[in-house]
Amino acid sequence: MKPDLRQFRRVVLKVGSALLVDRARGRLNHAWLAALAEDIADLHARGADVLVVSSGAIAMGRTVLGLAPGPLKLEESQAAAAVGQIALARTWAEVLAHHGITAGQILVTLADTEQRRRYLNARATTLKLLEMRAVPVVNENDTVATSEIRYGDNDRLAARVATMIGADLLVLFSDVDGLYTAPPASDPGAQHIPVVERITPAIEAMAGGAASELSRGGMRTKIEAGKIAAAGGTHMVIADGRTKNPLKHVADGGRCTWFLTPSNPVTARKTWIAGALEPRGILYVDEGATRALQGGASLLPVGVRRIEGVFARGDAVTIRDEHRILGRGLVAYDVDDASRIIGRPSREIEAILGYPGRTEMIHRDDMALNGE
Ligand code: GLU
Repeated sequence: MKPDLRQFRRVVLKVGSALLVDRARGRLNHAWLAALAEDIADLHARGADVLVVSSGAIAMGRTVLGLAPGPLKLEESQAAAAVGQIALARTWAEVLAHHGITAGQILVTLADTEQRRRYLNARATTLKLLEMRAVPVVNENDTVATSEIRYGDNDRLAARVATMIGADLLVLFSDVDGLYTAPPASDPGAQHIPVVERITPAIEAMAGGAASELSRGGMRTKIEAGKIAAAGGTHMVIADGRTKNPLKHVADGGRCTWFLTPSNPVTARKTWIAGALEPRGILYVDEGATRALQGGASLLPVGVRRIEGVFARGDAVTIRDEHRILGRGLVAYDVDDASRIIGRPSREIEAILGYPGRTEMIHRDDMALNGE
């Protein structure tokens, strides 16, 4: 059974270069983009949070710079990205402003989504933009990322961003309408697959490796994205972006491939915090804090009595009282700063540390209590 698009509350849309940039002229496909902006505005008006992961910086920049067709050297694609990203961001801001929506540009590197300290920052900024009803427009920071520390394709980047912000749906707009049992261009017997319940080796084998010159990701990176999404509790759909109003097309039951997950973002995140990370320290909390945590509150510095271990902001720590372990969380401070503010009210944090840190020692969303 296919999910209904209207059921989703936080949606990430990934738009590929081949859709955004008209190959022949190397310019943006304005009419198409304007129609997509209508779809985004509809979703947004219904109350959903929307985030766009947009490629196209390199594709646009290479035209402006007059670079010859064919593969680019790393420095060339970085220079092209520097030129193209400005135009790309301005275009998104304009097409969304037409619907009264504010856009915010976020350029991320692999480390921003993989290293826990930076992950917390990227997540907090993005969530704040969504809370303010802006539409974040995300791309990889291609100008500084070198090949070893790059995603290189926006499919996996979009999946990481989607799970990072707890999106319940990731839509990958592509130049195909989903996954087939074999490459549809070369195999007339290829059959379209409408729903993938689980990514098995057989599904992976169908993906092959093809990618076009403008977009880096082929079906294989989309399947990788699907794995990341499923583990993070995010459903994913691969849809043909070439139609006008492509999101409406999906909503109206148009052909696409759904990748389902049995989990949801909140459960998946709690499982990740509770199990995947090695705790670097222990926070001993007082009775008042224990009660507050069990009532669903965040952990404030004032409720922490003492600290053990050596940890950095974003690391996992064990939360316990004198009798038992209560759970785990991602701590918002390095051990040195944490030690200075424990037992103190949050309004004193700035005076003690010299900067306005987070109110919470561990935010509720970054915590998994036992039995939750
Ligand atoms: N970040 C690249 C760009 O904006 C695109 C990567 C991709 O196509 O997946 O040009």
